Amino acid sequence: MARLVLKFGGTSVADVERIRNVARHVKREYDAGNDVAVVVSAMAGTTNQLVEWTREASALHDAREYDTVVAAGEQVTIGLLSITLQAMGVPARSWLGWQIPIRTDDSHGAARIGEIETDMLNTRFAERQVAVIAGFQGLGPDNRITTLGRGGSDTSAVAVAAAVKADRCDIYTDVDGVFTTDPRMVTRAQRLPRIAYEEMLEMASLGAKVLQTRSVEMAMVHGVPLCVRSSFDDPDTLKPFGQEGNETPGTLVCDEDEIVEQQIVSGIAFARDEAKITLHRVPDKPGIAASVFGPLANAGINVDMIVQNVSADGSTTDMTFTVPTIDYDRAMSVIRDAEDEIHYADLTGSTEVVKVSVIGVGMRSHAGVAAKMFEALAGRGINIQAITTSEIKISILIDAAYTELAVRTLHSLYGLDETT
Ligand code: ASP
Ligand code: MG
Repeated sequence: MARLVLKFGGTSVADVERIRNVARHVKREYDAGNDVAVVVSAMAGTTNQLVEWTREASALHDAREYDTVVAAGEQVTIGLLSITLQAMGVPARSWLGWQIPIRTDDSHGAARIGEIETDMLNTRFAERQVAVIAGFQGLGPDNRITTLGRGGSDTSAVAVAAAVKADRCDIYTDVDGVFTTDPRMVTRAQRLPRIAYEEMLEMASLGAKVLQTRSVEMAMVHGVPLCVRSSFDDPDTLKPFGQEGNETPGTLVCDEDEIVEQQIVSGIAFARDEAKITLHRVPDKPGIAASVFGPLANAGINVDMIVQNVSADGSTTDMTFTVPTIDYDRAMSVIRDAEDEIHYADLTGSTEVVKVSVIGVGMRSHAGVAAKMFEALAGRGINIQAITTSEIKISILIDAAYTELAVRTLHSLYGLDETT
């Protein structure tokens, strides 16, 4: 028999009726003889409400008390799911992060998971009991409740799967799997039956919202096979893990060499949460980049794309970079404060930009992916403001007004449109 970790997000546990549906998925896997641990989020909207209350109480609040408040949503859903499972005749008990414990570091609000104790979970598996575990939370070295950052229950699930050596971690969500791009924007987007860890990591960090980036990182490091699938499918018509018909529900995130028909490009991601800042005519001499990015780093602002032009007049150059939109105003004022060290002629910026990325491990062995991209966008009159690349992705920054046109154009260009 297999060992599974099933994770259900906020929309899948939004009310008691949906929790009953979740319990039926759990029962199906349990009845097939598998060891089952379930990780759940808070009911949809709950965490937002809790966050809002902490802000209302005080804009500047103790991060440890913030965690005490926002971790509360998951306590409700683990209890409700355990009650529902028991009513269906499935032995189950709820586990808060500290009861296992799931140990984390002390970065309250954005904690990283360290050790997870598995002795008690293993004992309960042997007794044929389902473990219903609160996602998003852990126990810090200060003996206080910590949380892992928004969307963190994906990471809880993968961490538990790695710790108990699960055969698969199923992430149940409100979509059918991972798509070539957002199907709400491109109706011909297709579900990917498989995607490589590295590609999924890029997709998640470049804007696809289906999994928390850190959960993919953790799955890749520990070799946990991840399956992204829909919780809204009828639980009773599906086959349990390991039985015929269960080979590829949703999307399997796995090693590159487990994918037979690897495409050159697997997906197009886009992110609207970056803003652009340009320093005009900064001196073209050593130390200038340090005087720009040093103060930003000290302010805890992450810089993503950076473009520096060759100097036209031999003495000054323009420098453009991007920062998270939420840090835009702060970044502008950090730069203004450092004006005396940087000596720029003008400072401009815009939040009306979008980063569009083309992703695929096949790029490693195929030339010309970028050239094709730039040509297609030029053909549509879309101006590229910045570019960054890695071995398996090309990202461009463009005017936000062209988002849809760019994504559709690239989706067709690399043959990702569903043929009907
Ligand atoms: N409930 C938490 C949040 O909304 C964790 C999660 O759902 O993954 O961020
Ligand atoms: Mg989520």
